[in-house]
Amino acid sequence: MSNEKALNYVNDVYEIVKERNPNEEEFQQAVKEILDSLVPVFEKEPSYIDHAILERMIEPERIISFRVPWVDDSGKVHVNRGFRVQFNSAIGPYKGGLRFHPSVNASIVKFLGFEQIFKNSLTGQPIGGGKGGSDFEPKGKSDNEIMRFCQSFMSELSKHIGPDTDVPAGDIGVGAREIGYLFGQYKKMRGGYEAGVLTGKKPDFGGSLARTEATGYGTVYFVQEMLKGKQDDLNGKTVVVSGSGNVSTYAIEKATELGATVVACSDSNGYIYDKEGINLDTVKRLKEVERKRIKAYTEEHPNAEYHEGFENIWTIPCDIALPCATQNELNAESAQTLVKNGVKAVAEGANMPSTLDAINVFQTNDVLFGPAKAANAGGVAVSALEMAQNSSRIAWKFEEVDAKLQEIMKDIYNNSVKAAEDYGKPGNLVVGANIAGFLKVANAMVDQGVI
Ligand code: NAP
Repeated sequence: MSNEKALNYVNDVYEIVKERNPNEEEFQQAVKEILDSLVPVFEKEPSYIDHAILERMIEPERIISFRVPWVDDSGKVHVNRGFRVQFNSAIGPYKGGLRFHPSVNASIVKFLGFEQIFKNSLTGQPIGGGKGGSDFEPKGKSDNEIMRFCQSFMSELSKHIGPDTDVPAGDIGVGAREIGYLFGQYKKMRGGYEAGVLTGKKPDFGGSLARTEATGYGTVYFVQEMLKGKQDDLNGKTVVVSGSGNVSTYAIEKATELGATVVACSDSNGYIYDKEGINLDTVKRLKEVERKRIKAYTEEHPNAEYHEGFENIWTIPCDIALPCATQNELNAESAQTLVKNGVKAVAEGANMPSTLDAINVFQTNDVLFGPAKAANAGGVAVSALEMAQNSSRIAWKFEEVDAKLQEIMKDIYNNSVKAAEDYGKPGNLVVGANIAGFLKVANAMVDQGVI
């Protein structure tokens, strides 16, 4: 098929997405990124068009939306909205995290669920794509309020998930504490011990060692592979990491361990800049134990600077930038500033943190760019390893899981590089990751018939 015909087909599918999902900007953006990458696939293999693979992929298999009522500590009743989007089960049970953040809506869960299909495929593990969450704000809530919310949320969600059907995990606002409460309620609702229904559990009750670290570590392993391709490494590099949550914390830890100096991190209020290198013990205590704002860092480290507003973190000169907070946190202007300041590599720890224009700036300036689907796939990959441990009722050592994670990140990098070369876009890891992820799911869908 000619390039023009393939392009027209992809554009027609994008028009369907816009028409059927009006006002869902994030979902449209995530679909656009994938569709643009797939043009060379349809040129080479037009039979996917006969099977309407794209038209089927852009439509979730199922979307569940539900009421989540809960009572706060003063006795007041609140109502939030819960979601689970079960996007694609061609290669395994739906798998993807739960996000608790006031910004959560249908567009956000659909963009995350759609991306998850391709990311999960890239890991080489047998997991389909899904995502969920609620517009609940966990910040400022007591432990009891979080528990009551999680119990109400799971009372409904438990009807739709299971170790062989749909396996949620954490995401923004959902860490080990929330997973514990969700798991407890699932067990009570279902009356059996199905350890594999959620991943990201504490190791005491079936969690995998190294799952907490996996996304952040995996992102840095991916950077290591990108640098290796240029006969370079992390030693002596200056790194900026946005966010200060789960992904950021362990990206900072691994980058530091590999000889880099991480000079900045942030939260949704602002960022800290510590030229001597971030003290991660302080960040971990402030965020994981005391649940304070990142601003409090400067009280203990007076040489560090605090700046209000998180966007300007990208004005700090660095060799490597790791956006690890949230979607669209890095725009074209920030990308241009990073390029001007000599950035060598960017890897997305967060999901869709760079706008399409920002990605374009990096690619046209020969900055090594690791897209989210590839760079942050380590978390869900280790979640799949947690499922494997749960179903075989054994627990692997930390080093064993970490070694598997490193292998998986290496494979994801190599497969993305190869797919980019095979389809005429050498060096373009966005195209490579999207195509490598797409092919496996598309072939499974063809083999399983029109369902
Ligand atoms: P987390 O532990 O809740 O941390 C999120 C961090 O990002 C916090 O520092 C938060 O600051 C900041 N943040 C959240 N919303 C923001 C906003 N609108 N503007 C600026 N900063 C914001 O979440 P996480 O698990 O690290 O997830 C971070 C990103 O990684 C997300 O895009 C997620 O989808 C992606 N991801 C996570 C995993 C995983 O295994 N956890 C796996 C793959 C991808 P505040 O505390 O001020 O809100």
